[in-house]
Formats: sequence, structure tokens, C-alpha cells
Amino acid sequence: MELCFATNNLHKIQEVQAILAGRHTILSLADIGCTEELLEEQDTIPGNSFQKADYVFRTYNVPCFADDSGLEVEALNGAPGVHSAYFAGPQRSHQDNMNLVLSKLSTTKNRKAQFRTVITLVTASTTQQFEGILKGTILAEKRGDGGFGYDPIFLPDGYSKTLAEMSAEEKNQISHRARAIAQLIEFLKDK
Ligand code: IMP
Repeated sequence: MELCFATNNLHKIQEVQAILAGRHTILSLADIGCTEELLEEQDTIPGNSFQKADYVFRTYNVPCFADDSGLEVEALNGAPGVHSAYFAGPQRSHQDNMNLVLSKLSTTKNRKAQFRTVITLVTASTTQQFEGILKGTILAEKRGDGGFGYDPIFLPDGYSKTLAEMSAEEKNQISHRARAIAQLIEFLKDK
């Protein structure tokens, strides 16, 4: 089957294509002639994931999946959540976003948090969602300079390294995104 992955991140496309090689062909947005910016207007992670996949399927008539992710901090009632990319403002600065989370938690004992990815697949015959979660805690300060986003302040449960101190391979073994993608791949296996 030919499937569009509605993302502009070529690295994500290559990762999924490598796993599905021989069974399915992954098309990028450019491959299907979609150059417009996909809107993310919903107030939940599953909502935005659905909005992007559904829009591409209806507009370009190609089976499609899209992902959306965020960091959910228990003591902040799930924030930054769907607002993770621009939590500290429209400059979308990872440093500013991390500093804001750290300052909001400065006197808070409950440091529990999770990363969440939701992938929505929309085809002519089905709409399915797949979720990947990585649980951990927010440290008091940043550690490591790998990865991106909130990685330097996130310590996954059962590990002594933050996501930013792990190699890309180590992170990809356990990440919320990898877990959601694994479920999508499992679903597509017998399609
Ligand atoms: P996206 O939906 O994958 O674009 O993620 C939205 C935002 O969530 C990113 O801009 C980051 O702030 C945060 N985020 C998502 N995944 C990760 C991750 O693996 N590490 C750190 N931050 C992440």
C-alpha cells in the first residue's frame, strides 16, 4: 500500500520507510504535492494528529497517517501537553520551554511526567489511533546536550541518563514516538 506520512520531518519518514520496506511505500507530503502548512488547531494531542491525517486524506485522496506529541507533567495538570512546542511563547525555544517547566516546578515535590505520541491513520476503510507513552520524572536542572525539546530535563523511569544523555539509538529503543510507530507497524503488517 502507498501511505503518506504527514510530516515535514524527513528523518521520521526514513525511519518508518526502513521498517516497512517491501510491504508499504511511504510518501512524503512533497511526494503527494502537498506544500501547504498543515493546521494544528485542536486542543488535544489526538485531536491534532487526527486533524492532519484526515485533512490530507480528504484533500489528496491518499491513505495517510500523522503524529503529534507532547510532554505531560502531572503537577501541571498535563501541561505543556498539546502546547509543548510553544509553551514559553511563539519563539518556540526549547531552552525557554524547559526553563518555564523548571520554574513552574521549582517548589513542587511531584516531578512525574510522560511524553505522549498519538499517530492517526486514515484510509478509505478505517480510522485508527495508536498511542506511545514514555514515563519519567522532571529533574531540577538540565543534563546532556543530545536530542531536542525537553530531553535534557526528562529522566525516563528505570534509567540513570536523561534522554539528552542517551545516543539516538538508545532513545529510539524506548521513546514514545517509537512505541506509537511500533503499534502502527503491527497494525499494517497484515494489511
Ligand atoms: P511534535 O508533535 O513531534 O512536533 O512535538 C511537539 C513538541 O513536543 C516538540 O516541539 C517538543 O517540544 C516536544 N517533544 C515531542 N517529542 C519530544 C521528544 O522526544 N523529546 C523532547 N521533546 C519532545
